[in-house]
Amino acid sequence: MAAAAALTLSSPAQADELRDAVAADMPELMDLYRDLHANPELSFEEVETAKKLAARMRDLGFEVTEQVGRTGVVAVMENGDGPTIMLRADMDGLPVVEQTGLPFASKVVATPASGVETGVMHACGHDTHMTAWIGAAQQLVERKGEWSGTLVMILQPAEEIGEGALAMIEDGLYTRFPKPDYVVAFHDAAQFPAGMIGYSPGYALANVDSVDIVVPGIGGHGAYPHTTKDPVVLASAIVMKLQTLVSRESNPLDPAVVTVGSFRAGAKHNVISDEARLQLTVRSYSDESRKQLLDGIARIARGEAIAAGMPDDKMPTVTVIEPYTPSTFNTPEFTEQVMVRFKTRFGEDRVVQVPSVMGGEDFGQFLRASPDDTESLIFWVGGVPQERFDAAQKGEAELPSLHSPFWAPDAEKVIATAAEALTAATLDLLPANGG
Ligand SMILES: [Zn+2]
Ligand SMILES: [Zn+2]
Repeated sequence: MAAAAALTLSSPAQADELRDAVAADMPELMDLYRDLHANPELSFEEVETAKKLAARMRDLGFEVTEQVGRTGVVAVMENGDGPTIMLRADMDGLPVVEQTGLPFASKVVATPASGVETGVMHACGHDTHMTAWIGAAQQLVERKGEWSGTLVMILQPAEEIGEGALAMIEDGLYTRFPKPDYVVAFHDAAQFPAGMIGYSPGYALANVDSVDIVVPGIGGHGAYPHTTKDPVVLASAIVMKLQTLVSRESNPLDPAVVTVGSFRAGAKHNVISDEARLQLTVRSYSDESRKQLLDGIARIARGEAIAAGMPDDKMPTVTVIEPYTPSTFNTPEFTEQVMVRFKTRFGEDRVVQVPSVMGGEDFGQFLRASPDDTESLIFWVGGVPQERFDAAQKGEAELPSLHSPFWAPDAEKVIATAAEALTAATLDLLPANGG
């Protein structure tokens, strides 16, 4: 099925031809980008976005199905014998009040699940993903004679809450539609200069778990601690002991993070409260280290409560929030093969292996749903405007991260690079003569 693909290296003449064709589409693609940027929608609310892009894909000749995994879109083009490739873009914006000052900045206001009204912004650059995805679709339709196989292009909802990929899979992505041999996506990157391609073979992004710990105490007067069990002291001991999970229990060569992001207890100086609450983010790559960390958290919470003399019926409760975001794995051989191709096309200095990150991305679900016969790759496309990147190198500017209200990528470079890269990868993986 997904045997290592034989990649044919295009001659420089072909490379130029594709680049020129993408460049010719760019003015119209930038119109689409500005429209998407000005009209972001929150996770699982990407109704207008999905409708707009589904219509474009129908016009291009794709068989389009909407509302897959709530707001997701699946566009299929069967074009002869050959493997199946799935290209994915995510659609959702974030509850962030845009402060880029761009003329097409979002003024959208919405109320997310938290119930607190907020501005909405494409602060993660998913607007660049969708635009490049359309750009690639246009190229691949124009080049139907140059490839043979099945092209499945999906728009995924709700990446930011880590639920959209799973929602599409559970709604029959791999059973109602052709199952892919290859799944490919890109993400814009806020730490690389615009147009640079970064990749990490193997684990690229982390398992992301959110964990709640409720620590009961026995409350009372602050002047009489001996008549109480102080949950502030107990929860503090838990926080400190949790630090040993990474420093003493994890393999130093297997990255892990345990961060206590929230610690709440009590309401007054002289009252010992009867409860403390902790919120953790827990990051890892492998299933084994994830289990080790989560088991360790439960053990430490209980162990410290016993040490504090808490009765059996007042042990801390540890809740791991479902669903979690599983780590994203780039199948190594496949990744290297595509990158050999990219290096020839874009040049060695533009295509660079980069360290994996402890951030999360639910793209990993697509490989997890079919681990034995699918190859998977997500790569980065740098978005930092070159002059800003140079200034940052000299210490003269700060670079906003993804999710920042100031994140304003050089969208033209991101989209042109990614549209060309997605097209080139598809042409190579679905060769016209059957390989
Ligand atoms: Zn994001
Ligand atoms: Zn994102």
